[in-house]
Amino acid sequence: MNKCKAYYPIAGSRTAWIPCVQKAEAESRYCRRHGDAIFGAMLGAIVYEKAVDEAVEVEAEKWPRFERERKKR
Ligand SMILES: [Zn+2]
Repeated sequence: MNKCKAYYPIAGSRTAWIPCVQKAEAESRYCRRHGDAIFGAMLGAIVYEKAVDEAVEVEAEKWPRFERERKKR
């Protein structure tokens, strides 16, 4: 059983978070509640946020994941 990869705040705290203990849904890293929350936030951003009309340059070489994959080769 894969557990949800999200965290949730301890009741009454806005700064202390603990791992979610719910089971992740099939083919997802998150439980139903967290998956819905992430999807809902992304949907709201797409619907309500202004599009940014500028180029964004990303230096992929500095990403930790890229570094790990490069060392495997
Ligand atoms: Zn969860």
